[in-house]
Amino acid sequence: MPLKIHIETYGCAMNEYESDRTRRLFQEQYGYEWSGVPEEADLVLFNTCSVRDKADQKALSSIGRLRAAKIMRPGMVVAVGGCMAQSMGGELQKRAPYVDLVFGTHQWSRLPELVEQVREKRERLLETDFYGWKSYRFLPYRESTDSHPVSEFVTVQNGCDKFCTFCLVPFTRGREVSRPPEEILEEIRNLARNGVKEVVLLGQNVNAYGRDRSGLISFPELLDRAGAVEGVARLRFITSHPAEMNPELIDRMADNEAICEHLHLPLQSGSDRILTRMNRQHTLEDYRGTVKFLRNRIPALHLTTDIIVGSPSETEDDFKATLDAVGEFEFNDSFSFCFSPRPRTKAAEWKDEFVPPETALERLFRIQELQTELAVRRAGSYLGSTVEVLVEGAAKRGEGLFTGRTRSNLTVNFSSGSRKPEGLVQVRITEAMSHTLRGEHLEVGYVG
Ligand code: SF4
Repeated sequence: MPLKIHIETYGCAMNEYESDRTRRLFQEQYGYEWSGVPEEADLVLFNTCSVRDKADQKALSSIGRLRAAKIMRPGMVVAVGGCMAQSMGGELQKRAPYVDLVFGTHQWSRLPELVEQVREKRERLLETDFYGWKSYRFLPYRESTDSHPVSEFVTVQNGCDKFCTFCLVPFTRGREVSRPPEEILEEIRNLARNGVKEVVLLGQNVNAYGRDRSGLISFPELLDRAGAVEGVARLRFITSHPAEMNPELIDRMADNEAICEHLHLPLQSGSDRILTRMNRQHTLEDYRGTVKFLRNRIPALHLTTDIIVGSPSETEDDFKATLDAVGEFEFNDSFSFCFSPRPRTKAAEWKDEFVPPETALERLFRIQELQTELAVRRAGSYLGSTVEVLVEGAAKRGEGLFTGRTRSNLTVNFSSGSRKPEGLVQVRITEAMSHTLRGEHLEVGYVG
């Protein structure tokens, strides 16, 4: 009987990518079958996140739920990887003695070998070493004819050198490592041959691609080569750092037709004092200049951001500066959170300056209220217009509706008569909510 694998994924797009490629590797190369029920699997893998304390707690409670199954079926291998595993290491094994393997973010490509070792020797393993760029190995991508969704992530870079004072990533993922361009392009070509129309390039600090060593191509050059792959209709990239935005990159975004009019550019705070304490390496004025340049070159740009409220020592005036900045830049969407102290980071040491949780929550509520207003207004501007939608399949809600995304990354649910739409279609927008549009699929050749 074939062995069964189950993977639970928490956190960011990079984790989703690593889980997806790992599942494919175990299924295609090692003959595993997918199990939708963790208790019935022979290998249960938790790919964890550590961005906030809540993420740690969520993963720990899911891991805890597997304890009884592991007692009943001791042959089952329980493996925990990702950022929380990297940061907790041996402590995780102490807290959850039924976990067989704790592996770090640099061990993904060694996973089949580590699982085998656990299985054969019946021993518990802890593997959390970091490698430098010379020996870091990205997850291998194998030529495959397996079915893919229309949109796929492709990792181009791992780790971060920025050391923002609130962030654990440099400790959990290590220093920046760029993936060789030949590997990236080979993966994209293979995906395009298998019907993928949209590629999202991933990196913690994606627009710093190529800076970690000499001899690599620049990020704008990588975008050009990726956008030129036959079959790739849309190209996106996340997450960019404001200090790494430059005119060459923005020109490339404006001139290369494959690159979507969408940019996620974390602002985090509108107060220069807080930005300095966060070690963000730019001021509000720098950010303003970048947005101005972006909007001049790409008028239809859909700009989204991340905001942290209640950072240590944040005053009401600092917060108001953030509120003003969100209003000024009129973000299409923002992901806002209360500050969460992470072990080993500098900001976690500033306990005396922590903002009371109720104040942080109240600020979060105010920023989210403003963002909803902005999102509704921005989405409303689509009413009556015709947009290009990349069809993803049947909509989860609304009987008979299909769903897809605009180039600006908004979800559109639409009717399509008796036709089953696929690929890129034209949709006329009839209704606009803050995060979703509704519309109707137009006949081919329609001129609106
Ligand atoms: S740039 Fe992003 S990933 Fe890097 S330390 Fe700052 S917040 Fe973390």
